[in-house]
Amino acid sequence: MYPVMNTKYIFITGGVASSLGKGIIASSLAKLLKARGLRVTIQKFDPYINIDPGTLNPYEHGECYVTEDGAETDLDLGHYERFLGVHTSKANNVTTGKIYHTVITKEREGAYLGKTVQIVPHITDEIKRRMLLLGRTGEYDVILTEIGGTVGDMESQPFIEAVRQLQWELPEEDCMSIHLTLIPYLSAAKELKTKPTQHSVQMLQQSGVKPDVIVCRTEHPLTPELRRKIALFCNVKPGHVIQSIDAWSIYQVPLNMHEEHLDELAVRKLQIDNYAQPDLERWKAFLDRLRHPKHAVEIVLVGKYVELQDAYKSIQEAFVHAGAAHECKVNVRTVQSETVTAENVAEILQGADGILVAPGFGERGLEGKVCAIRYARENGLPFLGICLGMQMCVVEFARNVLGWPDAASAEVNPSSPHPVICLMEDQKATTIKGGTMRLGAYACHLEAGSRIAGLYWKTEISERHRHRYEFNSEYLDTFQAAGLKAVGHNPDTGLVEAVEIPGHPFFIGVQFHPEYKSTPENPHPLFTGLVKAAMDRK
Ligand code: GLN
Repeated sequence: MYPVMNTKYIFITGGVASSLGKGIIASSLAKLLKARGLRVTIQKFDPYINIDPGTLNPYEHGECYVTEDGAETDLDLGHYERFLGVHTSKANNVTTGKIYHTVITKEREGAYLGKTVQIVPHITDEIKRRMLLLGRTGEYDVILTEIGGTVGDMESQPFIEAVRQLQWELPEEDCMSIHLTLIPYLSAAKELKTKPTQHSVQMLQQSGVKPDVIVCRTEHPLTPELRRKIALFCNVKPGHVIQSIDAWSIYQVPLNMHEEHLDELAVRKLQIDNYAQPDLERWKAFLDRLRHPKHAVEIVLVGKYVELQDAYKSIQEAFVHAGAAHECKVNVRTVQSETVTAENVAEILQGADGILVAPGFGERGLEGKVCAIRYARENGLPFLGICLGMQMCVVEFARNVLGWPDAASAEVNPSSPHPVICLMEDQKATTIKGGTMRLGAYACHLEAGSRIAGLYWKTEISERHRHRYEFNSEYLDTFQAAGLKAVGHNPDTGLVEAVEIPGHPFFIGVQFHPEYKSTPENPHPLFTGLVKAAMDRK
C-alpha cells in the first residue's frame, strides 16, 4: 500500500510577451509527468470577463474548443487533451467572468449578508476554490494551472494574488511555480538579452509569487553564463533556469523539456517519490513518422477565418496526426471561402488532393463553400465537411442534384421554400446566445456497411457537437433516393449526424466535430481516411 500523497499543484505564469506558448509548456510538463505514471490534469484560468469563449469571434482568441461535457473553452484545452490523451471538462477552464458570476450570484442570495464584497478576499477566495477543485476529486496526483495573460496585466492580478496565497497556504512541497519568459535576440548586437526577463520576474515577485523555475523561450541556446546571470537576478538556482528553444514541432517540446530536466525539477520540488523515466516510446514513434514522411498531399481547407492561424487549430493538428499515421506530409492550404466562385473554383482547387470545408456561423463565405463542395462532388475530389461544412454539402446537393436552386439553411434564409437545414426543435425557444447550442458528446449510430462505419471499424460512436441547426429530416427520403445517404443517426432523437455519397472516392459530411478528439497517439479515423483518399488520388 502506498502512502496517500497530497495533490500537488503547479502554477504556470507568463511574462514579457504573450503567445510564448505557456499552453505547450504546461502540456509538455504534464505529458512528462503522466509518462512517469502520475495522474495528471491541466486547467486554464483566463482573465477575460466573458463567461466562456463560446460567444467570441475566432479572430479574437482563435478556435473555441469543446469538451466532452459540453464546455466551450479556450483552445489551450485542445493542446492539453492532445498531449495528455485525457478528457478535460467544464472545471478545467475558468474565466474572470465565471468567478464574478459566482460571487455576485452568492451576494444576491445573501451569502455575504452584512459584508462588503471585495476582490480580496471574496474574488480571490473563489479563484482559489476553483484552483483546488479538481484536486479535491482525488483523481489526480498533479494539477497544472496555466494563468492566461501576462504578469503585470491589470486583469490577471487577482489570479496572481490567488497563486501567492496558495503558495503561502499549501505545504511547501505541494506547490510549485513556473514562470515562462522570452529572451529576445538582438541580431544587430548578436546578443541574447535577459533584461526583460529580469523585469518580468521582479514584477512577479512584487506580487509576492516566487518562481521555482524559469523557462526561457529563445531562438538561440542559452550559455551557462547567461543561465547563471538569469538565476542570480531572478533569485532561483542556476539549474532552475531552463531553455525552451524554438522546436520544429510543438510535439517535440516534451522531449526538449525532459532534456532540460523540467520533469525532474518538478518531482524533486514536489517531493514526489518517482524515479521513473518517462515512457515516451509511442510519442517518439509518432514524432519519427512526422519528421520523416515518405509521401505528401495537399489538402485545401475552405473556411472564413483562415487569416488567423489559430482559428482552425484542432483541424490543423488533426491533419498533423493523420499525416504522421500515413507517413505523409499533409500540406494544408487555406482558402478564404469568400473568394471562391463558380468561375474560379477549378483554378483555386488545382493541385488539391482533397478538401475540408470548415465549421462556422453566419452567411459570410457560404456561397464559396457551396462552389467548392460542388467541384469536389463532381470531380471525385475527396471531401470532408464538418458541421457547417456538412450542412453546406446538403444545401449544394439540394440545389444542384435535386434541382432546388432556392434550397438553403434556415440559419441564413429562414423563408427558403426548401429549408434543407433547419433549426433544431429544442433550439426554437432559445433566445440567450451563450452556452445554449447543442454542445458536447452525443452517441451516434453508423449504418453497417457505410464508408464511415468502415473508417471507424464500428457502428456505435460518440462525438462532440456545437451547433443549432440540423439536417431537415422531412427531405430525408428525397436525398437518399438521389444518392446522398444519411449514414449516421443519433440513437435517441433520430437526428442525422453523417451523410455520404456512395460511389464517390470520399465524400463525407458530419454534423459533429471529429477534430476535437484527434491526438498524436490516436489520430482520428475521418482525418486518416481523408488523407488516405487524397494519397490514393495522387
Ligand atoms: N452555424 C451552424 C449551426 O449552428 C454550424 C455550426 C458549426 O459549424 N459549428 O448549426
